[in-house]
Amino acid sequence: MNARLTAEPARSVAGAPQGNEPPARVKPGPPLWLLLELTYRCPLHCVFCYNPTDFATTGPELGTDDWIRVLREARALGAVQLGLSGGEPLARDDLETIVAEAHTLGYYINLITSGIGLTEARIAALKRAGLDHIQLSFQDSSRELNDFLSSTRTFELKSKVAALIRKYEYPMVLNVVLHRLNIDHVGEILELAQQMGAQYVELANTQYYGWAWLNRDRLLPSREQLRRAEQTLERFRAKAGQKMKIFFVVPDYFETRPKACMNGLGSVFLTVTPDGTALPCHAARMLPGLILPNVRETDIKAIWYDSPGFNHFRGDAWMKEPCRSCPEKTKDFGGCRCQAYLLTGDAANADPVCDLSPHHHLVTEAVETAARAIASGTSQPEGANQPKAQEHVLVFRDHRISIPVVTAAPARRADVPESG
Ligand code: SF4
Ligand code: SF4
Repeated sequence: MNARLTAEPARSVAGAPQGNEPPARVKPGPPLWLLLELTYRCPLHCVFCYNPTDFATTGPELGTDDWIRVLREARALGAVQLGLSGGEPLARDDLETIVAEAHTLGYYINLITSGIGLTEARIAALKRAGLDHIQLSFQDSSRELNDFLSSTRTFELKSKVAALIRKYEYPMVLNVVLHRLNIDHVGEILELAQQMGAQYVELANTQYYGWAWLNRDRLLPSREQLRRAEQTLERFRAKAGQKMKIFFVVPDYFETRPKACMNGLGSVFLTVTPDGTALPCHAARMLPGLILPNVRETDIKAIWYDSPGFNHFRGDAWMKEPCRSCPEKTKDFGGCRCQAYLLTGDAANADPVCDLSPHHHLVTEAVETAARAIASGTSQPEGANQPKAQEHVLVFRDHRISIPVVTAAPARRADVPESG
């Protein structure tokens, strides 16, 4: 667990003495969405990766039989949507077997991939196995920044994969994670997507946990950047019409109310990590004190309905004020538990994105700090060897520095290239 990613680690997940005992049993519906993180292996090193910073210290990956059992158990409970992600799910050579089983069971199957490893032979095999949908990620519209942000040379390869996705008649669905370093390229990103024949583009603003949390002060955009991006987006929509659907949600840090994270933990989403840990949200592993079940020992039915880890944040008995007495709690469920924990040290607090939270200043201060850094030019250092630049180095997702607590100087430091 990356419990020490916050300055003041929480002592319990809800800050309450009852620990993991569910304060009140709330009967949920079925886990409609199943996300299988098949592996943490990934050839890329994205600075915004949401994987836990201690991914290399987790247990061995589940075998094919385990994944198939999970698919069957979750389907029997009512799961219908299946996401296959990672890491890079194509790193598993049994991906086609898993897809074939999921197809037989009747799932709608979405592969979430960087595209690395998606050869023509594999996409043909995945098509035969019954894969329904592929979401391809890009880091930027320019080769230089795409490759910099992932610390690889993959831009050309991704373009080839996009052509294969079209050839095999999948809808073209692109995902680009936005942050300070690429948000000014929204226009170029949309043009690239258009050239590729994209039907759907998700401009996903960075969620600040995992590796992105380590890099937050270098990745958070300014309000001015966000405003420009929204204007560019509107101009593009006006010109291009509805042929390409664009999803863009204002990043949390610029809102005054939080999003209904996971529609409330334990209500519809179930994630299984490579070592079999079951999570009510893909980042929940960081929450200290939350006893998380493992599919190696517990079946999905017991995990979903009976485990303390899934029951803990159901209902509202775990909430603190101001959420507990707030009329909006049935709408946003108090926001994101991981964001509350990372920023305040207590996962039971209101998400500090909310301007009713006594911790809201932590969000506004981060935004102001970002604006100052951009205005003063310290977010675009001239050289990583200069002392000023070293204060602002990016941490790349890397096996060598994947440890439970990242406190040492990062193994890899880098300059930000000129955007263009
Ligand atoms: S965000 Fe980047 S590094 Fe992380 S799993 Fe995805 S492709 Fe790999
Ligand atoms: S106080 Fe809590 S429930 Fe109310 S709007 Fe803010 S985050 Fe939502």
